[in-house]
Amino acid sequence: MFVINLEVVEDIITIDGPTSSGKNSVGFLLAQKLGSKYIDTGMIYRAGAFKILQTGVSLDDKEKILDIYKNLDVRFEMDEGWKMFLDGKDVTDSLHDPQISEVTSRISAIPEVREIMKAFQRKLANGGIVMGGRDIGSEIFPEAKHKFFLTASVEIRAKRRFEQLHKKDPAVKYEDVLASMVERDRRDSKREASPMRVPKDAVLIDNSNLTVEETVEEMLKHIHA
Ligand code: C5P
Repeated sequence: MFVINLEVVEDIITIDGPTSSGKNSVGFLLAQKLGSKYIDTGMIYRAGAFKILQTGVSLDDKEKILDIYKNLDVRFEMDEGWKMFLDGKDVTDSLHDPQISEVTSRISAIPEVREIMKAFQRKLANGGIVMGGRDIGSEIFPEAKHKFFLTASVEIRAKRRFEQLHKKDPAVKYEDVLASMVERDRRDSKREASPMRVPKDAVLIDNSNLTVEETVEEMLKHIHA
């Protein structure tokens, strides 16, 4: 578990970008190369949505939703791959279900949820970390030394997500994945509370035609420049 109670911000690398822009594969490999840790903040938002669905809390019940986020028990492990545990159970492969994605996207627009998450995310950084999300460079660590914004065309991102989902459920349709991604992109960038945007001073990388390794190489060039 690497939850550390420090507010020191040195050597923080932020990676923001829309869903399926490769933040997590890229962030994990970059952290490995730098001997650092990676945190996928989307998974923390997803963990809250998972609990909301699991416990049948109404999406209109703000108090209960805030309570769930205040009391989230998550921890992370980085070994061969990146893993997240919720209430002690490995949930890494269970949080990309379309229903969880939909609820996460709605819940993450609630300003008080973002405030709780802000404090939590800042505590996770112990002097050095690579963190991926939507507002990490703009709101959570605006003082970070290196900021990146990864993107790719929505069709390519939908294809990446479709390939992941299709392995689990052959009934999934590319058109549905694409439509849901367009809607979530719209919600993430139009919401009032910390909308997704390219942070000031961030390096923008379109990785539509880059592999994970090539993207990381590109980032390392900027970091070592
Ligand atoms: O990155 P991922 O697609 O797993 O994120 C799931 C959802 O969580 C996003 O659609 C977005 O609404 C929300 N999110 C956010 N801020 C973050 C990370 C994720 O609002 N830092």
